[in-house]
Amino acid sequence: MRYHNITKDDMVNGDGIRVVLWVAGCNHHCKECQNPITWDINGGIPFDESAKQEIFDELNKDYVSGITFSGGDPLHPQNRDWVKDLSDEIKQKFPNKTQWLYTGYLWNEVKDLPIMKNLDVVIDGKFEIEGRDTNLKWRGSPNQNVIDVQKSLEQNKLVLYCD
Ligand code: SF4
Repeated sequence: MRYHNITKDDMVNGDGIRVVLWVAGCNHHCKECQNPITWDINGGIPFDESAKQEIFDELNKDYVSGITFSGGDPLHPQNRDWVKDLSDEIKQKFPNKTQWLYTGYLWNEVKDLPIMKNLDVVIDGKFEIEGRDTNLKWRGSPNQNVIDVQKSLEQNKLVLYCD
């Protein structure tokens, strides 16, 4: 897997203060995407052990609520296995930290992926510039859903996350 950035003390991509991994690769090509540089699956730099340690060092801090996987699309077909393995490792090492994930896929297209067992919240769907609303929390356009993953899986229907 390749990535562009690891940002720290983020307060806009999920609940609390978070570390955010911005992966490379996205096939959705939303109009006026804010991160088109992340579309190329071969862009960015390789995700190596030192990048992983950088994330773990953040998650070790008490005030950090968890990790957000973003990009690019962490569920791009070539990213799925890698991100799932990293998510597994984080779950094992930091079971009390939350895991959020942004994807351009719809919930029904990805809800059966193995990574879902680890995730607290998924924001799904492409960004639609026509509906852009800067007042929306954690999403760019109203077609996107902020999904409570575990409740949605338990109840076998889409359950939105309420903060
Ligand atoms: S899914 Fe996200 S990263 Fe991909 S094109 Fe759309 S807005 Fe950009």
